Amino acid sequence: MSCWLVMTQLPSFTRRKENFRCLHCGTPVRGSGYTNHCPRCLWSRHVDVNPGDRAAECGAAMEPVGALWEGGEIVVVQQCLDCGHIRRNRAAANDDRDALLALFGRPVPDP
Ligand SMILES: [Zn+2]
Ligand SMILES: [Zn+2]
Repeated sequence: MSCWLVMTQLPSFTRRKENFRCLHCGTPVRGSGYTNHCPRCLWSRHVDVNPGDRAAECGAAMEPVGALWEGGEIVVVQQCLDCGHIRRNRAAANDDRDALLALFGRPVPDP
């Protein structure tokens, strides 16, 4: 019950499935509704203010600058090339393993 309440009190996450072409490497990406980064090069696009809301007007490419373990999962840290916004993105199951591993060990900026 309490768990359900917490879910409904977080309207900032909007699930939306959308396909897009990676700004960096051109790979066509099928949106899962949660992931909006490219599984091949891990670049993303600055479209969210809160995860999934697509409320940011920036729209610039976001470069993966680091990766870390958080709660048993890989989290990719991305930084917007235009405005410098930093975001943490949970890695998806189909993300390129080598690309993820290459990000480890880099200094990760604080959000
Ligand atoms: Zn890409
Ligand atoms: Zn931006």
